[in-house]
Amino acid sequence: MSDTIVVEALPILAIAPAQLLRGNGILSQLPQYLLRYGHKALVIAGENANRVTASYFETTDLEIIHAPAIADCTDANLAMLRQIIDQEKPNVIVGIGGGKVLDTAKLIAYQSKLPIATVPTTGATCAAWTALSNVYGADGAFAYDVTLNRCPDLMFVDYDVIASAPKRTLVSGIGDAIAKWYESSVSSGSSDKTMVIAAVQEARILRDILFQKSADAIANPNSPVWREVVDATVCLAGAIGGIGGASCRTVAAHAVHNALTHLHQTHGTLHGEKVAYGILVQLRLEEFQGNQLATSSRHQLLKFYQEIGLPTSLADLGLSQVTLAELEQISAIACQLNSDIHRLPFSVSPSQVLAAMVSTTSPMPVTV
Ligand SMILES: [Zn+2]
Repeated sequence: MSDTIVVEALPILAIAPAQLLRGNGILSQLPQYLLRYGHKALVIAGENANRVTASYFETTDLEIIHAPAIADCTDANLAMLRQIIDQEKPNVIVGIGGGKVLDTAKLIAYQSKLPIATVPTTGATCAAWTALSNVYGADGAFAYDVTLNRCPDLMFVDYDVIASAPKRTLVSGIGDAIAKWYESSVSSGSSDKTMVIAAVQEARILRDILFQKSADAIANPNSPVWREVVDATVCLAGAIGGIGGASCRTVAAHAVHNALTHLHQTHGTLHGEKVAYGILVQLRLEEFQGNQLATSSRHQLLKFYQEIGLPTSLADLGLSQVTLAELEQISAIACQLNSDIHRLPFSVSPSQVLAAMVSTTSPMPVTV
């Protein structure tokens, strides 16, 4: 008998922010929460977010350093922020903005071993919640993602701030959040793991909440139903990734999104809009395998997308002039070795992706 104790550790789960505060006007409480970490905070925000939230930092004992406004999570912005942190030595980082700004703030906080508070200014993503950052190249194309060691220390969801964002951002968030079901139900396979089953079932509940409440919510910003949909896109979508961990990862819908970012014509469309279209592509790929359930799921989504204004086709994504060569390029990128598309339970070729991309709105086959 050996004396060595073998510890079989399962992967660490970063499930949720340590504290989640929600409410209309809740942001006014942020400075006092930040003081627990020290007296100096570095605020990383987008141009618009800086303007919307500036008044909250006017009368406070905190010393606030405002980083120059950023729009993207790029290596250049991370290097710029690292310099500011080296010089200013803040006690805490505050990220205020959309997904790309929050990803930047989370990643630089992780690299600098500093606590992080996130403040989403739109309902467009669950980035304020998750322990993940996506990094993009200077050309706007997706470059790589980084898994962080934990979710944010503080997350402030101020509905008044989110309600002031363009309506389209919440619509996009709905597209990103609903992907959780279509992707996690595939990536989890036939897992019998308690946490994975729970996450996938939560993703189904999330989908149903969005089907039921999205149209009403979009028509009535800052209403009770609107707040529930914001909770679904900003919080529940993040919780699913946290509980499910690596088994509830992105699949083809996000792989198609990532590939689409390589086309500059798509830079005017939002993350969740491209992901929503990517779900339709994923379902087409499943249909090619003879999966009839995928056909009815796709038609259910087409109706939903039309109702709330999500793109259903390349033309809706502003790609009506896209060339065959460009489509071939995207399809090849989507099928690169490290692509999430390979989490599908069957192999996928670039030509199948291309065929799926151009047929997202194809009608139901007529049954006799
Ligand atoms: Zn996403």
